[in-house]
Amino acid sequence: MTPIQGDAGFPDLVMTLHDPDDESRDRCIVAELKSFRGRRDFQHGQKEWLTAWRAIEQRSQGAVRAFIWTPMDWDEIERELKEGTR
Ligand SMILES: [Mg+2]
Repeated sequence: MTPIQGDAGFPDLVMTLHDPDDESRDRCIVAELKSFRGRRDFQHGQKEWLTAWRAIEQRSQGAVRAFIWTPMDWDEIERELKEGTR
């Protein structure tokens, strides 16, 4: 891992899938990754970014989904990532 510059609290992962042959499959998954022990510890800006992404999620009809993931969420993580590869 290397530190990068960016807006404070920006989510760890922003993953997109674009299928030019079937844009109904297009989606974006936003994930803040946390250790299980640190799952309730938010750094400066993280809650604000998640609030913004979740507002977009509400308006996107499922095309954008925002998560806070810990290792305990592995089943959900696999489910969400497989969803995009059908
Ligand atoms: Mg993180």
